[in-house]
Amino acid sequence: MSDASKGLSLYNTLTRTKDAFVPIDAGNVRMYVCGPTVYDFAHIGNARPAIVFDVLFRLLRHVYGEAHVTYVRNITDVDDKINARALRDFGAEIASGKLTLNEAIRRVTEKTADQYHRDVAALGCLPPTVEPRATEFVARRPDGKADMITLIERLIERRHAYVAAGEVLFDTASMPDYGELSKRNLDEQQAGARVAVDAHKKNPGDFVLWKLSSPEEPGWDSPWGRGRPGWHIECSAMSAAYLGDVFDIHGGGLDLIFPHHENEIAQSRCAHGTDVMANVWMHNGFLQVEGQKMSKSLGNFYAIAELLETDTFGGRKWPGEVLRLAMLMTHYREPIDFSVRKLEEAENTLRKWKRAADLAPAAGQVPAEIVAALSDDLATYAAFQQLTQLAGEVVEGNEPAAALKASLLFLGFDVGAAKVDEAAVAKAIAKRLELIAAKNWAEADRVRDELLAQGVQLKDGKDPATGERVTTWEVKR
Ligand SMILES: [Zn+2]
Repeated sequence: MSDASKGLSLYNTLTRTKDAFVPIDAGNVRMYVCGPTVYDFAHIGNARPAIVFDVLFRLLRHVYGEAHVTYVRNITDVDDKINARALRDFGAEIASGKLTLNEAIRRVTEKTADQYHRDVAALGCLPPTVEPRATEFVARRPDGKADMITLIERLIERRHAYVAAGEVLFDTASMPDYGELSKRNLDEQQAGARVAVDAHKKNPGDFVLWKLSSPEEPGWDSPWGRGRPGWHIECSAMSAAYLGDVFDIHGGGLDLIFPHHENEIAQSRCAHGTDVMANVWMHNGFLQVEGQKMSKSLGNFYAIAELLETDTFGGRKWPGEVLRLAMLMTHYREPIDFSVRKLEEAENTLRKWKRAADLAPAAGQVPAEIVAALSDDLATYAAFQQLTQLAGEVVEGNEPAAALKASLLFLGFDVGAAKVDEAAVAKAIAKRLELIAAKNWAEADRVRDELLAQGVQLKDGKDPATGERVTTWEVKR
């Protein structure tokens, strides 16, 4: 392994090989990950890329230094699904003139983006270095950073895009190696196209860069009329704005390889005249829930917030770090089956690790073996085996305890002082006493177990003066 790679190797979807990772500039390692479209709560499948690329971000910071990694994750706040949601939720206000469509859209996107930030913070993810919003990169910017309209103009100038029927379309036939990421070639796509080709498209694979907006739709003035961007162009603009024409790592879910990432590559390479957009393309695998594809119609569609805050999954709430560990117990490229059993397993493991780590007064060094495991294409499972081994070696205050504490912090698990909401515990105890008085033992036990899951152990006793039942609590180590 060359020194330049610092022992880090990553699987690259572009080459279908695992290669030593050598950054373009070790002083500024640059990574872009496609972020959420903010029209609805993020679901548990959206949590996977957030967690996986957070681990990679932490690893890169560890290897290259915190100040030497730039992680950009965008927010897609222009999308027809957002318009539809604004009309659904604020239709009456818009009709009565209380809100404009743009104001209603802003309400939808701000509320959803705020929720996303709360969700990913609960999952132990660090904020990215920059989190640009698509709507701020449509029109030419006063700071001269890349924007979508300028990119589209350049694609037209370079004969990679054309105007037809009020749309600007990318001309896939103008790019000889279009399809290299997904390994689809244009002939196959045309032969396989079952739907009638839109008459204005030169080729069925040609995709929209810009489309016209009706007066009721959000729009920006452009050389092609008042309109809005297609889906893919925003990531080409925002990655160029913060990371340059060519950068190190581009990530996202497997479902984004085609068409989204393929089209990002086409736009960026053709606009900038480069051989690659990003050197390494990384994709996390699919997620199923209890062995089934997650879908609204199957009733197994779970928002991250639902798992954190309600008892809809397995009859209880789940701490964010349990979701995080459960997600990382499967290698990021493998499909994952998200299940109650997996969450219970993660919770038990985490409890053991934390109990051992708590015996260290302070964090020590992250062991080289842990860094080495993660450096092998994020082999989290191998890293976790090391953690379990460390936990087995722990005695009060010794070195393995300090190493374990450091490793857990490094991987995004909270091993500081247990934070207990005392008012909430007091309320739960009062409720349990009421349930006991009403002889509702099952519910009373449920309240007790829920507290236990948060590390709060109840102790029942009697007040020596009055003989009444009193319940005290302590944080379980
Ligand atoms: Zn993207």
